[in-house]
Amino acid sequence: MAELLTRNRLDAEALAAAFESRPATELIAWAIAEFGSDLAIATSFQNDGMVILDLAWRIDPGVRVITVDSGRLRPETFELIDRVRDRYQIAIEVFSPDAFDLEQFVAANGVNPFYRSLDLRLRCCEVRKVEPLNRALRGTAAWISGQRRGQSLSRRAVRKVEIDEARPGLLKLNPLADWSAEAVWAYIRQHDVPYNDLYDQGFTSIGCAPCTRAIGPGEDSRAGRWWWETGVPKECGIHCQVDWATIRA
Ligand code: SF4
Repeated sequence: MAELLTRNRLDAEALAAAFESRPATELIAWAIAEFGSDLAIATSFQNDGMVILDLAWRIDPGVRVITVDSGRLRPETFELIDRVRDRYQIAIEVFSPDAFDLEQFVAANGVNPFYRSLDLRLRCCEVRKVEPLNRALRGTAAWISGQRRGQSLSRRAVRKVEIDEARPGLLKLNPLADWSAEAVWAYIRQHDVPYNDLYDQGFTSIGCAPCTRAIGPGEDSRAGRWWWETGVPKECGIHCQVDWATIRA
């Protein structure tokens, strides 16, 4: 296993270097050709994910698209999911939290425990988001995410091809790593890509309803996520650039 991981890490580093200055569409086309049905686009239907979905659909309309319904999404996000399904005529695989785990968590901690502590917030994200995504990705070889370096400090080091540290053996591809928010919007306007109505209400990052708000002038684009937390990376645990153990200590 160690050998395999070492080899994959070297492969990932070489691929990241090779694709760094190439367009997003080339990395997506390579991934579709390389992994076929073992590739998944994981999206929460934010703008970045919508650009990836549109780019990939133009290459292969049968590309696998997965998402997680945490059970706490805003109505606008559900509305967008069906709009995307109609527009692209694709099957979107929606994964939900494990019912038993969720019932246990809510029984022990209440419906909205995330405001009380970072630990409870991370545990909620684990039950509602991370575990369903892990389940969705089981059996895949690679997945594509919408991470961009400009989204937040915790994403500054994102590479276009990475080993998925949270899911060893998987490759994670970030074709928009070097895109700006402006470039994302320009693509969406140019190609009339569907987007979440909440962007028109001042949201710049869209997740669960109780944990996301619109941002104010000058705020970081992910400042509206878990806005009550300070000095903590705006991450849920799906992406593994955060050493939570150190932060908790
Ligand atoms: S974003 Fe909030 S509601 Fe959603 S899973 Fe995380 S803590 Fe729970």
